[in-house]
Amino acid sequence: MKERPSFPARLDSTLAKNRPSSGGGIASSAPKRMPIAKAPVIAPLVAKSKLVPKAIPVPQGLGMDSVAVRQRMVQKLAGQGVTDSLVLTAMGTIERHRFVDSALVNQAYEDTSLPIGLGQTISKPGVVSRMIELMRNGATGRMGRVLEIGTGCGYQAAVLSCVATEVYSIERLKGLHDKARDNLRHLRLPNLHLLFGDGMVGYAQGGPYAGIISAAGGEALPQAWIDQLAVGGRLVAPMVHAGGQALLVVDKTPQGLRQSILEAVHFVPLKSGVA
Ligand code: SAH
Repeated sequence: MKERPSFPARLDSTLAKNRPSSGGGIASSAPKRMPIAKAPVIAPLVAKSKLVPKAIPVPQGLGMDSVAVRQRMVQKLAGQGVTDSLVLTAMGTIERHRFVDSALVNQAYEDTSLPIGLGQTISKPGVVSRMIELMRNGATGRMGRVLEIGTGCGYQAAVLSCVATEVYSIERLKGLHDKARDNLRHLRLPNLHLLFGDGMVGYAQGGPYAGIISAAGGEALPQAWIDQLAVGGRLVAPMVHAGGQALLVVDKTPQGLRQSILEAVHFVPLKSGVA
């Protein structure tokens, strides 16, 4: 018997209108929905950060005020050319140091990728903000539903939850899916839905998506991603290109797909199946 864990009530009413009415069940290959917060929480994120229990220690080496450290990071991101104010605000809000191992906390706000276990890495803040800005494609205010492939430690998913109405994030490694859920618990983001499964098949039940973003580099674009992208939507993914990897941007227009290949990047590989 398939089990469908409950969503926050708000989500059901939002999505019901947009979901295709046919084939309503979750296909056996589809990832299992796992909402990160069982109890619906409605206070906004910024207010919520004040609710973080005092018992959570301030990481050593960050000083007492990680807000200032993040603001310096945000200034650097702006200096690198990120202009989307919602992205910059999100990068200044989400505490990256909570997503990395305690031994790496001192490097959390440097523009560097860091190991997150199981051979995977959290992307550099510069790459996270660049890719999200590209995906938002000049949107003012929150964009619509977003699919992220590769939850990893959950950092980018948390940033996405600040700039989109709903975020579905899929991870193929159970250990990281569980870790992300733990890392994200304190934020209680009701619009972020963590899924365990193979992101190469996407998550049709949450689509069509205004944006799709992959944190793992593939050799070819999975057809499911194109199918699940809304017309007017944009996909950003690292892709094998010219012996390396480059950022691929695909716009789904009423006239068809428009692709561009941008700068070289270095991401962990996109793999099929779960482990
Ligand atoms: N956005 C993440 C980055 C994680 S690294 C963060 O902020 O931490 C990329 C992740 O993609 C890895 O955890 C890897 O396991 C995952 N991955 C690779 N192929 C995948 C697939 N087919 N489906 C889902 N996740 C995948």
